[in-house]
Amino acid sequence: MSVSDDHILFIEDGQPRGEDPDGRRPWLVLVADDDDGVHEVTGFALATMTILDRPLALLHAHSGAEALAVLRAQPDIAVVLLDVVMESDDAGLRLVETIRSDEALANTRIILRTGQPGHAPEAETISRYDINDYKTKAELSESKLFTSLTMAIRSYDQLQRLEANRRGLEMIVAASNQLNAKHGVQAFAEGLITQIAALVRVPPEGLVCAVAETRAGDAGPNDYQVIAAAGSFRSLIHHRLKEIDDLRIVAALTAALESRVSSIGRHSATLYFAKSEQEGFAAFIDAARPIPPLDQHLIEVFCSNIALCAKNVDLVAELRRDAFFDRQLGLPNRNALIVELNQRAQIAPNGDGVLAVVDVDQFATVNDILGQHYGDLVLKMTGARLREFFGPVAYIARLSGDAFAVVGQREVVTAEAIGLCFAEPFSLMGIRQSVSASAGIVFLNAGFRPGAEYVQDAYLALKRAKAAGLAQIVTYTADLANEVRSRARLLDDLRRAFEGHRLHLVYQPQIDLATSRVIGAEALLRWRLPDGTMIPPDRFIPLAEQSGLIIDIGHWLLREAMLALHRLRAAGAPNLRMAVNVSPIELRRPDFADSVLQILGETATPADAVELEITESVAVGGLAAAIETLAPLRDSGITVAIDDFGTGYSSLSYLERLPADRLKIDRSFVQGLERGQGAARIPRTIIALGRELGLRVIAEGVENESVALAVRALGCHEAQGYHFARPMVEADFVAWLAAGGCAAG
Ligand code: C2E
Ligand code: CA
Ligand code: CA
Repeated sequence: MSVSDDHILFIEDGQPRGEDPDGRRPWLVLVADDDDGVHEVTGFALATMTILDRPLALLHAHSGAEALAVLRAQPDIAVVLLDVVMESDDAGLRLVETIRSDEALANTRIILRTGQPGHAPEAETISRYDINDYKTKAELSESKLFTSLTMAIRSYDQLQRLEANRRGLEMIVAASNQLNAKHGVQAFAEGLITQIAALVRVPPEGLVCAVAETRAGDAGPNDYQVIAAAGSFRSLIHHRLKEIDDLRIVAALTAALESRVSSIGRHSATLYFAKSEQEGFAAFIDAARPIPPLDQHLIEVFCSNIALCAKNVDLVAELRRDAFFDRQLGLPNRNALIVELNQRAQIAPNGDGVLAVVDVDQFATVNDILGQHYGDLVLKMTGARLREFFGPVAYIARLSGDAFAVVGQREVVTAEAIGLCFAEPFSLMGIRQSVSASAGIVFLNAGFRPGAEYVQDAYLALKRAKAAGLAQIVTYTADLANEVRSRARLLDDLRRAFEGHRLHLVYQPQIDLATSRVIGAEALLRWRLPDGTMIPPDRFIPLAEQSGLIIDIGHWLLREAMLALHRLRAAGAPNLRMAVNVSPIELRRPDFADSVLQILGETATPADAVELEITESVAVGGLAAAIETLAPLRDSGITVAIDDFGTGYSSLSYLERLPADRLKIDRSFVQGLERGQGAARIPRTIIALGRELGLRVIAEGVENESVALAVRALGCHEAQGYHFARPMVEADFVAWLAAGGCAAG
C-alpha cells in the first residue's frame, strides 16, 4: 500500500510520498504529458489540495511509455491525468487501452486532456475504456481540476473498497475453511495468526492467549496463557501472559480478554474470539506497517465469522479425543491402537513387535454377581496393573469391555510376562482378589499390514485361549487361521443344513436301575451330510452356540422332541420322560422360560414329562440369572438335570443353589469304574452328594454290565449307555420298545 523506494525515481518535484505528518496516505495522481508546463501548473494547483481528507501526491511521466513504467511500478495510482498526444498522435489512447486490458487496472480513473480538440477521442472510445472525464487543457483551472479529481478519486476509492471487500470475503471464507480443518485449540490459534496476517498482508507476527487450563485449581482469574505464537513471539508459547516483558502487548491482550472486545489500532490488532458467553481467546497481531482502514474492516468481518469456528474447535477436539480415548479407564481405545500399530509398521518395519489382547477371565460373572460398580473397578485395576507392569516399554490400550491391548517388543510382551502381571492379587475395596486373564498374541510381521487385521488375529487367538479355560495364552498361527476358516465354512454348512431340514434327533433310553424299566429318553441332535458322513455334535454344537444359531435349533428340536415323546408314549412307554439338552446360550435368553412353556402348550405336553439338561457352565453367564430363568419352569413341573456333573466349574455352592432334580454323572467318571477300586472314589462321592441333596442320580456312558452293576452298587438310581441302548431314531426306538426294551437289550 505504501510506496517503496524504487518509485521515488519518478518523483521529480520532491513532493512528499509516504504519509504526511498526520500519517495520512496521499492519493497518487499520475500526470502524463509531454508538456513540462502542464506538469508545473498541475503541481502548483494540487500542492495543497486534500481530497476525502487525504493529500495528493503527484507522479510524473512525459510519454506514454514512461507513464506505463510508472503504472507498472505503482499499481495503486488513483487517477491518471493523461495527455492524448505525446510521442505519437494517439499515445494517450494507446496507453488507456494498455491500462485497461494489458495491465488490468480497472479501478484507476483516467482523465483525458488534450490541447487540440481535433484529437478528441470518440464517444465510443470513452465508454469502451472507461475514461472518466475529458477536458481540454483550456479547462485546467484549479477549481475545475479539483472537481474532476474529487469525483475521480471518490469513485476510485469506492471501487477499491468493493474490490477489497470481495477479495477479503474470499479470503475470510478460505481462512475459515482452513481453520475449521484444524484440530485442537493450539492448531486453531496458530492458524488464526497466519490467517489474520495474510488478511492484512503483514508477516505472521503475533500471539494468541487464553485462560490457563488449570484455572480451576491454582490459577487466578487473570492467569492467561499464551497458547500459540508466531514470528518473533514464538518463544513465548506456553508462557503466562504476565511473563511477557512487552507491557503494551500484556495490556492489550488482558484488556481484550477481560472486556471481550476487539480493538484494531494502526500498528496492531487485538482481537477477541468468543467461544461461549464465558470463554474465548484473544489474538494480538503486530503489524510493522499501519493497518489500513479497509483491512481493519476486513478483520472485523473475519472476527465475527471466525467466532463460530472457534466454537467448533473445542467440539471437534473433544470428538477427536473421544474417538481415540477411553474416558472410563483413561487409556487409548481401539482406534488409537490401530493408528499406533500402523505407525509402528511404518517406523519399525523390521517386525520385532507383538500385540497381545488380554481379556479378564469370567468378567461377566464378576459383573453379574458382584455388581457393575465392582466390575468397573476390576477393569480400572486391570488397566492400571497392565500399565504399571509393562510400564513405559509397552503401549496399553482398552479395546472393548474387558479386553485390553498390549503392544511391545517380543522379548517384553511374552506369555510369561502376561501371566506374571496377574500373579499378584488385586486389592479391590480393601479386599485381596485374584484376577486371571487370558490372552491372544500375534507377532507383528515385517512390512506393512493394516493394524485392524492384527487386532482381528489377536482376537482369534484370544477366542481360542478362552475356549481352553482360564488364564490361557494362545499365539496366533497360520494353522489357527486355517482352522477358523474351516470352522466358518462348517458353520455355513450347518446353517444351510438346519434350514434345509437336514438335522434330526435320536433318542437314547434312560433306565431305572431298580426296576430295569425304561423311564426316559434323552434327545440328541444329529447332522448327516448328503454323503452319509455324520458330523459329531461335539463339533457343530459349539459352532451353533457361538453363532447364536443354537437358539433357533433349540426351539425346533424341543418341539420335535415333544412330538416324538407323544408317539413314543403311545408306542408302549406311557410314562416316558423326555430329556432335552439346553445350551447355556439358550438359557441366557430372557425369553427362554416363556418359549419352553409355549412349546409345551402348543404340543400339549405335560410339564412333568419334560426334563431339561443343563451343565454347570450356565453359571458362567451368571448364576443368579440362571436360577431366575429356571424357577418358573420348575414351578410348572418341568424337571432339571445337571449334566456332565463333575467336569465343569463344579462348586458345591452352585449345586446347592441351582434348582435341580437330577444329577448326571459324567461318563468319564462312570467309564473309569472299570479301572478298579480307586476309580470309584469320585463317582461314589458324587452319588453320595446327590443323594444327600435329595437328588436323583443317573450315570451316563454305561457301556457294559459290570459298570451297570458298579453304579447300582454305589447307590445310583438310573443309568444310560450303550449297554442298554444306543441313541436311536424314533422308528428304531419304537421297535426297541416293542421288542421289550431294556429287558431285551
Ligand atoms: P451329552 O449331553 O453328555 O450327551 C451324551 C453323549 O454321550 C451323547 O453323545 C451320547 O451319544 C453319548 N453316549 C451315550 N451312551 C454312551 C456310551 O455308552 N458310551 C459313550 N462313549 N458315549 C455314550 P453325542 O450325541 O455325541 O452328544 C455329545 C454332546 O453334544 C452331548 O453330550 C451334548 O452336550 C451335546 N448335544 C447333543 N445333542 C444336543 C442337543 O440336542 N442340544 C444341545 N444343546 N446339545 C446337544
Ligand atoms: Ca445330555
Ligand atoms: Ca452328559
